[in-house]
Amino acid sequence: MQKIATPKGTKDIISKYPFVFQKKFGQNFLIDPNILDKIITSSNITKEDTVLEIGPGIGSMTQAILENAKEVISVEIDKQLIPILTEQFKNYDNFKLVHNDILKVNILDLLPNSDIKVIANLPYYITTPIIMKLLEEKLPINSITIMVQKEVAQRFMSLPNNKNYGAITLAINFYCDVEFICNVPRACFMPIPNVDSAVIKLNIYKRPPIDVSNTELLFKIIKLAFGQRRKTLVNSLSSEFSKDKIREALIEMNLDINIRGEALSLKEYSNLINLIEKN
Ligand code: SAM
Repeated sequence: MQKIATPKGTKDIISKYPFVFQKKFGQNFLIDPNILDKIITSSNITKEDTVLEIGPGIGSMTQAILENAKEVISVEIDKQLIPILTEQFKNYDNFKLVHNDILKVNILDLLPNSDIKVIANLPYYITTPIIMKLLEEKLPINSITIMVQKEVAQRFMSLPNNKNYGAITLAINFYCDVEFICNVPRACFMPIPNVDSAVIKLNIYKRPPIDVSNTELLFKIIKLAFGQRRKTLVNSLSSEFSKDKIREALIEMNLDINIRGEALSLKEYSNLINLIEKN
């Protein structure tokens, strides 16, 4: 079978079918076999693994995943792509295609067992909601290897006091360790998008890396703390706790009482919650 993730492979498939690129579905297909190799190698899939692929497109990554995994469940929203994928992979009995919107589908119903590996190259405007859905629903997922806009990779991997550091950095850090795999120039896609990309791998923790007494409260205060970045933490959180309580906790943690939310690590946020809840 001809490799799909090349300029010629992609052009051949597109010209064979009455396919029209759908901008609304963020369709930029991968045409660089070296990037595909990096995605497959870094995702560590073996013949024991079930892979959930989100947004297979014309199958540029599906082909390589099918050859390396036990089973592949691909969820694609665009009905034009269903006959293309069905025909391309008719000889693979380990391929299951689901025509649906990943944001609407009950993902747990699709997954046969635990330790699923997710691989995805999605429209960038829905990357974060999809990642958060996968993480918050506590699905039996081991890792997510995903193509993201370069700026999203920077946000996920940022450290305190950096302009890219935000509530999403902390949410991601709560659920997983973020591994940078590679940068992906825009010329690696057809059609060429107007942003650069990066592949990252989210290695999902079996247990959160911090010991926090109230997770719901943790996320609520992180949201408040980053709502108005220039405010001090004491002022940002004053709708939730008394200013004195927050100051006391900061002093106990040896932090400046005028510190801003963007300066605290996830561990410091959890210490703050634990102290406030205890007092
Ligand atoms: N994975 C292919 C590749 O690497 O060439 C296609 C990538 S393209 C950037 C994104 C794919 O996700 C498209 O096939 C698009 O139709 C599909 N898609 C967009 N939104 C989706 C959604 N909500 N649920 C499932 N698939 C979606």
